[in-house]
Amino acid sequence: MNHMRTDENTGLTSAEAARRRRVHGPNNFDISIDDPLWKKYLDQFKNPLIMLLLASAGVSLFMRQFDDAISITMAIIIVVTVAFIQEYRSEKSLEALTKLVPPKCHCIRDGQLTTFLAEDLVPGDIVTINIGDRVPADVRLFEASGLSIDESSFTGEIEPVNKIVEAQQISNSNNLSERRNIAFMGTLVRCGKGKGIVIGTGQDSEFGEIFKMMQAEEAPKTPLQKSMDTLGKQLSFYSFLVIGIIVIIGWIQGRKILDMFTIGVSLAVAAIPEGLPIVVTVTLAIGVMRMAKRKAIVKKLPVVETLGCVDVICCDKTGTLTKNEMTVTQIITSERNQAELTGVGYNANGHVNIVHCNSDPTEAMRSFKKVIEVGFVCNNAELTQEGLMGSPTEGAILGAAMKMQLPNLRQQYVRVEEWPFSSETKIMMVKCHPLGDETNPIWFVKGAMEKVLDRCTHYYNCGQSATLYEKQKLQYLDDAHVLAMRGLRVLSMAYGNSPTTLVFIGLVGIMDPPREGVSEAIHTLRGMGLSVKMLTGDGEDTAKAVAARIGLYAEGVRTMSGDELNSLDVVHLSKSIESIAIFYRMTPGHKLKIVKALQAGQHVVAMTGDGINDAVALKTAEIGISMGETGTDVSKEAADMILVDDDLSTVLAAIEEGKGIFYNIKNFVRFQLSTSIAALSLVAIAMIMRLPNPLNAMQILWINIIMDGPPAQSLGVEPVDHDVLRKPPRKVQDNIITRSLILNTLTSAFIIVCGTMWIFHEEMEDGKITPRDTTMTFTCFVFFDMFNALSCRSNSKSIFQIGFFTNRMFLYAVGGSILGQLLVIYFPPLQAIFQTEALYSSDFFLLIALTSTVFIVSEVRKFFTRREEHQLLHQREMVFYPENLV
Ligand code: ATP
Repeated sequence: MNHMRTDENTGLTSAEAARRRRVHGPNNFDISIDDPLWKKYLDQFKNPLIMLLLASAGVSLFMRQFDDAISITMAIIIVVTVAFIQEYRSEKSLEALTKLVPPKCHCIRDGQLTTFLAEDLVPGDIVTINIGDRVPADVRLFEASGLSIDESSFTGEIEPVNKIVEAQQISNSNNLSERRNIAFMGTLVRCGKGKGIVIGTGQDSEFGEIFKMMQAEEAPKTPLQKSMDTLGKQLSFYSFLVIGIIVIIGWIQGRKILDMFTIGVSLAVAAIPEGLPIVVTVTLAIGVMRMAKRKAIVKKLPVVETLGCVDVICCDKTGTLTKNEMTVTQIITSERNQAELTGVGYNANGHVNIVHCNSDPTEAMRSFKKVIEVGFVCNNAELTQEGLMGSPTEGAILGAAMKMQLPNLRQQYVRVEEWPFSSETKIMMVKCHPLGDETNPIWFVKGAMEKVLDRCTHYYNCGQSATLYEKQKLQYLDDAHVLAMRGLRVLSMAYGNSPTTLVFIGLVGIMDPPREGVSEAIHTLRGMGLSVKMLTGDGEDTAKAVAARIGLYAEGVRTMSGDELNSLDVVHLSKSIESIAIFYRMTPGHKLKIVKALQAGQHVVAMTGDGINDAVALKTAEIGISMGETGTDVSKEAADMILVDDDLSTVLAAIEEGKGIFYNIKNFVRFQLSTSIAALSLVAIAMIMRLPNPLNAMQILWINIIMDGPPAQSLGVEPVDHDVLRKPPRKVQDNIITRSLILNTLTSAFIIVCGTMWIFHEEMEDGKITPRDTTMTFTCFVFFDMFNALSCRSNSKSIFQIGFFTNRMFLYAVGGSILGQLLVIYFPPLQAIFQTEALYSSDFFLLIALTSTVFIVSEVRKFFTRREEHQLLHQREMVFYPENLV
């Protein structure tokens, strides 16, 4: 402490922390081991096709064809620059992904326990760590109770390390697991809690180097990216084949070999959709950013794809379906007096009204207070200036205590032992002795009704303890049942000299209202063909009452308890699980079994979870979803997606985006393929028909920019069509290249080729090729492509339904391409490069009239597709979903 010049209780002052931050820097890693921009730009020239093109420019130069040499070089520079900008943007958007989930820490500064970003920690800060946390920096511990930490990600050691606070003699300074009084940055707290002083941050932390490597690690490719890579390779192969044939035919026909070579290579640059994988990656990454804006943080790109395939979603009740804002609204004492508490929130606003009294009201009030007292002492929550720190269930009891004007009772006892609450045991027990009296320890206990009653032998009766008989127990269970039927979460309290002979004191009913919009979200999810299941640790009555309120439960819907689940194996469970909508008295272990049973039935499962023990289920589910506000760091680590606001409707938004992205990718694949096929066919047909080349090398390169560049990319950011929500989940094995996609692509390519050939033929009446002829042909092709892009914005919807102005990126990209085309035609320096000539306005009328045919044909086709889809949807909605009874 002296060494670090800090105080154990009050921590650093903000001013001192700011000073230290200036010296030590932020507590994070700069993972950019970036090459300078110019180097990245030059790297673009390493592409073999570009090198070949440069070589052909060199040969032109050598043969003194200076015009050609300059034209080719300039065209290459334009192509390379566009590709460079594209790639740079893709890198930037991927980089942004790594910054979406900044870790937080709990630190004492200026004498206050506060929560802030872990990157603001400095050496000397005092931090607290708790079960489920990720250690925010290297911390020398001075308090540790039952603290064990999982260091497996660094040491490979699966067994968590038990931490201590005492000074140590270290035999081997390299063996970090021997240093048991230090919690290392990036490791995970599996059990217990601790407090310590920060001794190393960022780069100076022990695992700094490894951590940096792990963060920089490239995410594995998504199935879609992989299939796009394969598609790219296949297309390259066929393109090369066609190009080879074109060049050989040209050579046999006695055309100039250099011309053929240049055309061949430009065609290769243009026709091979080398931009396809980049556009897919950027589209996925942009999708992730869009989801982040809608409060769903996706940690890995593959998740975006899988989201569209999810057909079952298992939700925790507390926090996801309900607000997780708990308020004690009812107290029933062991004498069966009943009080109602008004007001909401963790504060003193509200009153205690006695509604039923079996004894003298003052005596009754004393026992109400006693119930809350037990809950207060057996409690780890704190109400600070920043609000509640700790579990909302425990916060609710603190709120009730404030309404009753009870003092801070925890200060009157010294806690000597704690059995923390866990979702498995559903009980919390603390052993305390009153301040100054170490001889009389008392156990304070709170937990689920049956768990507490099992440990009770007596009950509290007007200041005395009386023997508890079975009949009385049943009465208490009845009281709990009445509260639960109202949707209240029931928590009971007891105290005593030993944890197995407790005195029952009473129970409380805690209200946790359903979240706004949750019923609508469930309704929509079901409409999309997803089945929604509720999992809760609460008892049957509470579960049913809450589920009924949010539209998940009605008479006839099947439910299952944790005990029933225990009695079934995965195979049997998978047979009945589809019809069960509500699972109650669940533990995290059950979640794993449910995921496995659903997966055995070929379902793609999304599962929510927030606790440390949910990690395995979250990892096993196709989409593990953790909670941003209440989730532990461990669950966030294991999850694929984090809901910033813990809200189920956010999952809906994410699924919507995920599905939309898939359709967008399909749309631009259609666009790129049709352009590529049309360009190749055009040149090949001209060659076979012994016609001159309809497009020169530079023009082909320009087409490449349009195909691989901004217009294609802008199709990827098309706003989500809300109708995708009505489409059923996609099958995982569904390929993006479907028969209808191929058919549509070929139709568009066919129209483009016919139209362009017709213009070329008309212009070539004199039999000689002039710059005007190629300009007309070239512009015709580009306009065809623009109209084709417009029709590719949606596969089934008319442009009049989706709106002309709904995709701004598209407008910019197409506007920019048309402007570029006009410059290429009218701006003299570009005319020289692309060997073009000015056109008349009448030419444009003709071209627009002709090229719009590709758009019109596609609109007609969409009309029929829509009719077909409508019929399919209608049929699907008729299908009976067993648990969709409500
Ligand atoms: P859900 O699964 O719906 O999200 P949950 O995870 O909050 O609910 P658990 O935390 O397992 O469910 O709670 C189950 C039961 O355990 C509650 O009904 C309550 O009786 C009891 N309980 C909850 N929190 C505590 C606590 N902090 N201390 C003691 N008992 C608790």
